[in-house]
Order: sequence, then C-alpha cells, then structure tokens
Amino acid sequence: MTELSNLTREDHAVQERIAARSASMIERTCAWSAINTGSFNTAGLRKLAPIIADAFSGLDAEVRMEEGDPFETVSANGETIQTDTGPILRVSARPQAPVQVVMSGHYDTVFPPGTFEAVKDIGDGKLNGPGLADMKGGLNVMLEALLAFEAGPFKDRLGYQIVMSPDEEIGNFASARALTEAARSGAHIGMTYEPCMDTGAMSGGRKGSAVFDIVLHGRAAHAGRAKEEGRSAIEAAAELVIGLEALNGQREGVTFNVGAIDGGSAVNIVPDLAIVRFGARAPDAPSAEWATGEVQRLFARATARDGIHGHFHGGFYRPPKPRNEAQQALFDAIRATGQAIGIELEFVDTGGVCEGNNIFAAGVPNVDTLGVRGGRIHSNEEYVVLDSFAERASLSALILNRLADGRLDGAGIKAMMGR
Ligand SMILES: [Zn+2]
Repeated sequence: MTELSNLTREDHAVQERIAARSASMIERTCAWSAINTGSFNTAGLRKLAPIIADAFSGLDAEVRMEEGDPFETVSANGETIQTDTGPILRVSARPQAPVQVVMSGHYDTVFPPGTFEAVKDIGDGKLNGPGLADMKGGLNVMLEALLAFEAGPFKDRLGYQIVMSPDEEIGNFASARALTEAARSGAHIGMTYEPCMDTGAMSGGRKGSAVFDIVLHGRAAHAGRAKEEGRSAIEAAAELVIGLEALNGQREGVTFNVGAIDGGSAVNIVPDLAIVRFGARAPDAPSAEWATGEVQRLFARATARDGIHGHFHGGFYRPPKPRNEAQQALFDAIRATGQAIGIELEFVDTGGVCEGNNIFAAGVPNVDTLGVRGGRIHSNEEYVVLDSFAERASLSALILNRLADGRLDGAGIKAMMGR
C-alpha cells in the first residue's frame, strides 16, 4: 500500500486545481440548495436537473436526462397508485477505456417545499441548509474531482457512467434500473457521494432494507345490529403486527418495524380495510431471505382467517452490502489513498442504506460516502463542513488517478466479488 500513500506529480496537480476551486464549489452547492428538490416536488426537480446537467457538461462526456420508471405506492384507501418524480441524469464517458467506474448520487432531498429553506452561515466553518451535505455538496465534489482528473494525463485510461437520481430518499424506485444498468456496463468500482460523518468516518458494511405494505380486506357490517356478519380487517392487522414485532431478536441483525397502519372508519362499522406499513433490515442475503419468508408466512396466516383476503406489496428494495473480501480490499486502498493527503479514514458498519447497496447487488464493489463531511442530515439542522469540499474532491481525484495509472487495481478488486 506504500504506493497508494505517496503523491505523484499528477496527484499534486489535481490537488492544486481543486484547492483553487473550493469557493466556487461551495457557491454552486448553495445555489443548488436554494432550489427545493423534495423527492415529490416534481417541478423543483425539473428545475434543478438541467442546471446540474449544464454543470456536468464541462466534462469530456455525454450528458443526458431521461425519465425514470413509474413506480407504485399504496394509498390510504388501499389502492395501488402510480407515482413519479423528476428526471434521471446520466453522464457517460469513454466506455471503451480499460478502467471503468460507475458513479452515483441523488439530487432530491427529504424536505418538501416550505419546510426548510435558505442557507445560513452558522459559524465554525459550517453552513446550514437543505441538501448541502445530503447531497448537493457531494455532487459538486464528484464533478470537481472528475474535472481535475480529466485535466491530467490519464484521462483516456478511465471511463465512467454516472447516474444522478431524483428519488434516492424514497428508495430509488424510479432510478434503480438505471443504476443497475450503469453498474453492469463493465464497471470495476463504484463511487457514490453520500456525506460522510462530521469526523470524516465513512460507511463500511450496510444492511439491506425492505419496505412492505400489506393490505387486508374484511367485510363491513353494522357493529350494533349485525356484528357477527362483519369480518374485521383491523383485528387481522393487529395479529399481523404482533407477529411482525415478535420477529425482532429472532435472528442476528434482523429488525422489523411497523411504522404505520391505515384503515377503518366509524366505531359503529366493522372495519373492512386495514393497511399495515412496515420496514425490515437484514445484514446479509440469507437473513434477508429469512425475513421475507417470515413476512410471507404471517401474511398467509392473516389471509387464512375467515373472511379476510389481502394484497402483498414490497420486499427488499435495497439488498444488503456486507463487508466482503472485495469491499474490504477497496476500503483498505481508499484508506491508504487518504493517508497520502494526511486524512485518516475509518469505515464503520451501519444499518443505513443507499445507492451503494444497489451497486453492490449489481456485482460492483463500491464506496458510497465519498461526499462532503456534514451532520444532522434529514433535519432542519443539516450542515456541511466547508473545508471538506476540497478535501473530499482531492480524495476522489486521487482515487481516479490511482485507478487510471494502475496503483489501485480496480479489476483485481472486482474479481474478489465472486469469492
Ligand atoms: Zn443522501
């Protein structure tokens, strides 16, 4: 790893270039933050997408916008409805180059219009604002790293496919196919730009995440005159909820959480509808399979009740991303690269999920917290640490230099995925 922790002339060049552009990176991030892009704010997403496309057109790459796949949600009255968000941004460069990287990020935020607006300087070298860290800052880090890399001599040795999604915060249902397609087009390594911790710590292994909506139908009846003719969907749902929660603690690392229940109406009517909405997390593929099997078993038990039938929606939309041999080799290489610029990188396992899970599921080892340092994300106190823009863009540019000049063996790391 000694080679990785040394700086070459080309490494110095990318660092200098990035340092000189730190202020403009921050300024552009603030401008993007000022445009609300809550995942369901289609107008805001459509407004920002061409602005991002324009910024990325500075790369030696083809930039295009495409519509995402329509996806289904279950409404409060149990109906399946089609939902859409904004466009997907795709950037493609040198698909014939010997080293291929898939890169990703999202431009949506968790904040609907009117809930959290405006950027504020909160002192201490930090800015507070929606999406600054998660992850409009990360998109700018990715862009500057690529611009710096392409200004150097190794450009022709490395190509990339970038997917910037409008729907990461709601599960990438519209953009999952684009991510998988980009990862499977020959990528050796994946690089995603979620924020890292304020301390600089990055994510290691990630659990898989599932979302389920189970719709149960019973039979309505007047609760006073004909209670016995009714079949309560809420009673069936209650049994289901107890069964789901009882699964907690049964298998290492697997958790279930019933987050919401819809259904029923007046107290004098036997309820004919209940919707149980819940999530599950699992650390590896066999435990995800176990979790899914248990949910199916409980669904079968609920719908075996007299007069109850139901619909089953959902599953593990983000498969687990365990710390396997390939992932560990990549983390080690990135850690050594960080040492070249004096940063000590640490990789911590988490129950959280992101696009890195999808890229791993597509067979590509990846590191997914290459964005800015920040904290309090998904709250009105979200902040970004200003000096992390240049620091993290330099880290990414060095990774690209090393992949291109062969000091970091992307193909070798990818080959470990099958083991
Ligand atoms: Zn994010």
